[in-house]
Amino acid sequence: MGKKRTDNMKILILGVGDFFSRRYYSTSFLLLYDDRKILVDCPDPLRRMLYDASRRSGIQIDLPDINDVILTHLHGDHSNGLEALGFYKRFVDQRRVTLYTIPEVARELWEHKLRASMGSMTDLESHRTRHFDLKDYFKIRLLKFGKINRVKDLKIIIRRTKHYLPCFGLKIGYRGRWVGYSSDTSFDPEHIEFLSDCDLIFHETNIGGHTPYEKLIELPADIRKKMLLVHVPDDFDIRRSKIACAQEGKIFEL
Ligand SMILES: [Zn+2]
Repeated sequence: MGKKRTDNMKILILGVGDFFSRRYYSTSFLLLYDDRKILVDCPDPLRRMLYDASRRSGIQIDLPDINDVILTHLHGDHSNGLEALGFYKRFVDQRRVTLYTIPEVARELWEHKLRASMGSMTDLESHRTRHFDLKDYFKIRLLKFGKINRVKDLKIIIRRTKHYLPCFGLKIGYRGRWVGYSSDTSFDPEHIEFLSDCDLIFHETNIGGHTPYEKLIELPADIRKKMLLVHVPDDFDIRRSKIACAQEGKIFEL
């Protein structure tokens, strides 16, 4: 019946930086399991990020492989790649991307982000304008709080974060192993508690409304040991960090 499952979930890191970085791509990663590839957040330049991660990891991934995206919020360093991905899938692959997100994100995504550039197309010769809607590019699957969401053989549990925009962190389960991702959040002990039963936790750190490194190093050792930092500022000294940092192109296996 079903396809034979031969390996565990792998997580391929595409970016570890923040919006203003000169050194890194914006934070994003790919879940790889059972021939599936699910993108978690979608910054740009997405295709270049996939290309670089492919070269570094030896796992070849390109836009044709990306059909499913978990979108945590609408800040550009998490969502600006959707325009290129949507155009590519619609006009090159002739298929749609499935987006997994929360209602607040889905509501704003088209009218206040994508419509200006993706909503119409004027033919250069006939001058006729074709109009497009969100559903011409994307299928939306809403994730619910307070329950286990099923996404392509994964279990996904989401939790609202303390951030400037509606945003969620999540726990992703596959074959009894769990990876957590804080997404963008200020320091929130309850969010860390939510993530704490995961086998691996990607947690953000940065300045401003983000989570200070100084708070994370005060956490109990058993949590810090399974934590990897992402969304780091350029001047963050990853070699001296007391918590390991994720690296672009690196693969973590669960
Ligand atoms: Zn953000």
